[in-house]
Amino acid sequence: MRSTHTHSAVLAHARGPIAIESIYLGEPGPGEVLLRMEACGICHSDLFVAGLEKLPLAPLTLGHEGVGRVESVGAQVTDWAVGDRAGITFLGPTCGSCEWCTTGRQRFCPKQLNFGYTLHGALGEYAIAPVSALVRVPESLDAEAAAPLCCAGWTACGALREAGLENGQSVALFGLGGLGHLALQLAKARGMRIAAVDVAEDKLHMAREWGADVVAHGETAGRTLQKEFGGVDAAIVLTPSAAAIHQAFRALKRTGTLVLVGLAMSQYELPLVDTVLKGITVRGSYLGSRQDLAEVFRLAEAGFLRPHTQSYALAEAPRLLERLRAGELMGRAVITW
Ligand SMILES: [Zn+2]
Ligand SMILES: [Zn+2]
Repeated sequence: MRSTHTHSAVLAHARGPIAIESIYLGEPGPGEVLLRMEACGICHSDLFVAGLEKLPLAPLTLGHEGVGRVESVGAQVTDWAVGDRAGITFLGPTCGSCEWCTTGRQRFCPKQLNFGYTLHGALGEYAIAPVSALVRVPESLDAEAAAPLCCAGWTACGALREAGLENGQSVALFGLGGLGHLALQLAKARGMRIAAVDVAEDKLHMAREWGADVVAHGETAGRTLQKEFGGVDAAIVLTPSAAAIHQAFRALKRTGTLVLVGLAMSQYELPLVDTVLKGITVRGSYLGSRQDLAEVFRLAEAGFLRPHTQSYALAEAPRLLERLRAGELMGRAVITW
């Protein structure tokens, strides 16, 4: 078995700088494999982790939407072989026995570990990962396109399902970045009427090209969507902005559903009168089920889901995270090797 050094994007300490570091990885332990990464997307949750007051693990390798190939296997690994293609998501190993693990909702396990947070992540040439948390990635997909499906695509699919929409119903998507543009494609594939909302004009322009029925500027979206749709059946907030939640709430029709996805350390005050008298449902959505992830890969293989990606070298990762924070990235930035 070989021991490995890697270059990875490392967060030095809580709220510390992110830099490319040379790291000694060692060998995969029991139940683990060494992956040679092919691609890893840059996600807003990397910024969320980087902004936390405390970190469970530091220095920390970031990254949680990676695709790689098994380079070597540790002891007790029987179902993964050298050359197999694996995906790393945000969801690491879970306990396997709690009420959420035993009902297919492992993402709510209170003992879950997370890549790029409590475990080292995928934003490096090599990564060591426990096989219990790896997902199979279809060979037919290009690694650069498959990587964003492991977080952005999966999360978008889960959120649309949580919105509980049927064919022909209307959905407003707030935030047209990595998640939003994939949510738009998924909503399109399901025959929904789509309103796309953002504060950036270039993203609204792209949303129209990607098939949104209506586009609305974030600051006035509530009013616009009441006028255009008579309110929407569901509004999904994919961006970490309390102002977006306010507009999303205003965009809902009676008995509509507000789905919160974007992570931020802010508070939102729920308007009680409207929530009660209009029968509004407010729910959070985190990642998705295993079936959601399988569906995302299936739709991508069938050509319904095409992540808009731009490929970069690892050295660019720190700068890309800054550009992501500034809302400057279109689609998904993906590091490829
Ligand atoms: Zn993510
Ligand atoms: Zn559990």
